[in-house]
Amino acid sequence: MDTCEPTRILIVDDSEDDGMLISHQLKREIPNVSFRRVDCEQDMRLALQEQGWDLVISDHSMPNFDSVRALEVLREVRRNVPFIVYSGHYDQEKGLAAMTGGADDFVYKSNSQRLLPVVRRELRNSRLHREKEQAERTARTLSLFDELTGLPNRNLLAQQVQSRVSESGPAALVCMDLDRFMRINDSFGYGTGDALLKQVAKRLEAVLGPSDLLARLGSDRFASLLWNVAGGADACAQAERMLGVFSVPFQQNGQELFLTASVGCSLLPEHGSDAGTLLRAAESAMALAKKNGRNRIEVFDPKLSHGASTRLQLESALHHAVEREELFLHYQPMYEVVSQRVGAAEALVRWRHERFGVVPPNQFIPLADDTGYIIEIGEWVLRTACRQARHWQQAGRAPLAVAVNFSAAQFRDEHINERVRNAIEESGLPPELLEVEITETVAMQDAEHTIAKLRGLKRMGVRIAIDDFGTGYSSLSYLRRFPIDVLKIDRSFVMELPDDGDSLSIVRTIVALASALKIGTVAEGVETAEQFKLLADEGVERVQGFYFSKPLSVEDFSEKFITRRSEEKDGEEKIVRALRLDALMPLDGLRLSASA
Ligand code: C2E
Ligand code: MG
Ligand code: MG
Repeated sequence: MDTCEPTRILIVDDSEDDGMLISHQLKREIPNVSFRRVDCEQDMRLALQEQGWDLVISDHSMPNFDSVRALEVLREVRRNVPFIVYSGHYDQEKGLAAMTGGADDFVYKSNSQRLLPVVRRELRNSRLHREKEQAERTARTLSLFDELTGLPNRNLLAQQVQSRVSESGPAALVCMDLDRFMRINDSFGYGTGDALLKQVAKRLEAVLGPSDLLARLGSDRFASLLWNVAGGADACAQAERMLGVFSVPFQQNGQELFLTASVGCSLLPEHGSDAGTLLRAAESAMALAKKNGRNRIEVFDPKLSHGASTRLQLESALHHAVEREELFLHYQPMYEVVSQRVGAAEALVRWRHERFGVVPPNQFIPLADDTGYIIEIGEWVLRTACRQARHWQQAGRAPLAVAVNFSAAQFRDEHINERVRNAIEESGLPPELLEVEITETVAMQDAEHTIAKLRGLKRMGVRIAIDDFGTGYSSLSYLRRFPIDVLKIDRSFVMELPDDGDSLSIVRTIVALASALKIGTVAEGVETAEQFKLLADEGVERVQGFYFSKPLSVEDFSEKFITRRSEEKDGEEKIVRALRLDALMPLDGLRLSASA
C-alpha cells in the first residue's frame, strides 16, 4: 500500500508457523502493518469487536473451524472487510463454497508469491471503499446541515415541514432575515459576519421550544418550524420572542453591534399543503416586513402575495439582460477645474426591461451582485465602455478617459484583472484612458487582496479611483499602500455644501489626504454653482454633477462633447462664470441655481 495509515490484518489459522510466515512475508512489503492470529470462532468474534480491520486472511480448514464459517462470522460483524482464503491443500468443493459465499480471493500456500499482489489489491479496494463511504457520509451531512452553524439547512427543514404537513395540528413556519447584514460583512469582514451569525443561531435556539425546529436557510436567513401555534396572532407572539433576541447588542472583537431582523410567518395548513409553497409564503411575508420598514413581523396574506415575488421576477429577468441586449450605458462628464475641460466620462449602466421599464442601477446592481450575474453584466459594461472610449479617441477627440464602476462581487472575481486586460486589448484603448472605480468599502474588505489586484491593474497602466470616499471605514495605512490615482468624494458630503460645517471639514480632510498621498480628487454630485465654487477653492481637481451635466446617452454625449463641443463650452462657461462672479461680488450675493 502506498499510504502510511496503519493497516491491520487478521489471520485465521491454527498454525502459529504459518501465521508467522504470512506476517513476515507481508511486513517486508507493506508499511505500517500489524497482525493478529486467531484459530477459533470465538476468538475471531472477539477480535472483530475491535474497529479498524483492513483484511482477513483465513486458512481453509482448521480443527473445528473452516474458511466458510469464518467468512460467515466476518460478514455478520463487519460487512466490508475483504476476506482471502489462504489454503495449504486443494479442496475444490470447499474452495468453491468460500468463493460463492463471498470470499474475495483464494490463494494456495504452495503459490505464496501470489499472496502479496492479492493482499495489495484488496487493501487498495478496501481503502477506496472506506473513502467513498466517508465522502457519502460527509455529503449527507453537508446537504442537510449548515456548515457554519451546524443547524439543519433548507433541505432538512423542507423535509421536516413536508413530513409534518400531513399530520394534524396547526403549526407556523417563521422566516427571519437580518437587516442590512451585508453592511456588517462589508465593514468588518466576513469573519465577523460569520461569528455574528453563530451568535444569532445560539440565541434563537435558546428562545425556541424543545420541539421547534430551527434552520439556517443561507447567508443571513433563518427559519423555524413552530408547533402548537393557534393562528396568526399566536404565530406573531412566538415570532416576537425570536425578535427579542436582538434587544441586547452582540459583542464582537470588543465592539458592540446592534442587529435587527425582519420576520415573515406562514401558517400550516392554511397557507399551503407542501413545504415549497409554505416556505415561499413565509419568505414573501418577510419581504413585506422589509418593505414596510424592517425590524418587524408580517404574516402571509394570500391577497398580497403577488407583489412580494417582484424581486424573484426581477432576478430571473436580470439573468437574460445581457443576451437580450437590454443594457445600455449613459456617460456623465467630469470637468477638470483648472483646464476647464472634460477630461473623463463615467460610464453608468442602465437596464430597460419590456415589463419593468428602466430599472435604476441602485436597484439591480445589488441584485446582480447577490446573484453573481454582475460578472457577466460587469464584463459587458467594461468592454462596451472601452470600445466607446476608443471610438471617441479615433473621432479625433482630445484624450477622454472613461471610468467604469466595479461592484463588490465583480472585484472579488479572481479573473477580474484578466477581464480588464482583454477589454483593453480588444478595444485598443490606451490603458491610461481607463479608470476603474471601486468603492472604499469594497477596497477595504480584504485589503491585502485589494493591494495585489490593484497592483496588477496598475501594471497594465489602468488608473484607479476610490468611489464614494468618506462613507466607509478606511484604514489610512492601507490607503497608503493602495496604488490609487483618485479619491472620489461622496455625493452625500457635496450635497450638504455650503451650509453644513461637518461636510465641509470632511471635504477639506479628504483633499488634504489626497494631496498627502499625491493623488487627485473628484467631487461627485455637484448641483450648484456655490458647491462648485467652494470645491474649486478647496482644491478639488475634477467635478462631476448635474450642475454641469446629467448622465447622457451615447448619442447625446457624442453630440455635445465630441462633435459640436457646445455643451462642453457650456460647462466651461459655468466654471468661468462661477469663478468670475465670485471675484466680482461677495459670496453672499452668489445665489445661482442649478440651471444658471
Ligand atoms: P456612483 O458610481 O457613485 O455613480 C454616481 C451616481 O450619482 C450616478 O447614479 C449618477 O447619475 C449620480 N449623480 C451624478 N451627478 C449627480 C448629481 O449632481 N446629483 C445627484 N443627485 N446624483 C448625481 P446612477 O447612475 O443611478 O448610479 C448609481 C450607482 O450605481 C453608481 O454610483 C454605481 O455605484 C452603481 N453603478 C452604476 N453603473 C454601474 C456599473 O456599470 N457597474 C457597477 N458595478 N455599478 C454601477
Ligand atoms: Mg462611480
Ligand atoms: Mg460614487
